[in-house]
Amino acid sequence: MRWTTSHLQDLLVRLAEAYPDAHCALAHGDPFQLVVATILSAQCTDVRVNLVTPALFAKYPTPAKLAQAKILELETLIHSTGFFRNKARNLIGLGQALLERHSGTVPSDPQSLSALPGVGQKTANVVLSNAFGISALAVDTHIFRVARRLELSAGNTPGKVEADLCRLFPRDTWIALHHQLIWHGRRVCDARKPRCEECPLRDLCPTGTGRIEDPHSGKRMRKTRTVFPGA
Ligand code: SF4
Repeated sequence: MRWTTSHLQDLLVRLAEAYPDAHCALAHGDPFQLVVATILSAQCTDVRVNLVTPALFAKYPTPAKLAQAKILELETLIHSTGFFRNKARNLIGLGQALLERHSGTVPSDPQSLSALPGVGQKTANVVLSNAFGISALAVDTHIFRVARRLELSAGNTPGKVEADLCRLFPRDTWIALHHQLIWHGRRVCDARKPRCEECPLRDLCPTGTGRIEDPHSGKRMRKTRTVFPGA
């Protein structure tokens, strides 16, 4: 589907109206805590991470403390977030790298952030946008699914979807759009059972109107006519 500028604008307005309070769901008090929480959120829900981080942040409040953590104690604390061995190694490496390369502070440029242990492009973008207010559009599993269902992107990797979204939408919309698409994916555009009947984007959505197969499930929704307002 070819999205026109006015339809993209319409999409932004509808998302903003549907999710005016959309925000980062990972509890954090500073950039360091956000990096740690985002590393823990890989393959884990934000709710689960938020149950774990209060005790974690109390025990390791600074990169210096985290750098000196005993791996078994750290693994025990973060066990319930899954992949705990790998995450524990990355967290200790994160503390050490922040101390050695950045004087114990979290850098605010994409290259330095992405070079930290356990921090890929998605985590770097989450930290840039939420901790520093720098325009970035991290693509998580929800955004990946929603963007493909809306045919905003046919990319088969998060990086390709991110590039498409950044090309389609103005830079100053990226931070809000990131949160709104995640909330939409969690609340309406569910992975297994998207609630198309109540979706505020349905008439704009080629998947919800049954015009294309759901790129996520391969199934086709019940067909309705796609109506672009003003088209
Ligand atoms: S119409 Fe359905 S598939 Fe399309 S965005 Fe809404 S919930 Fe998702």
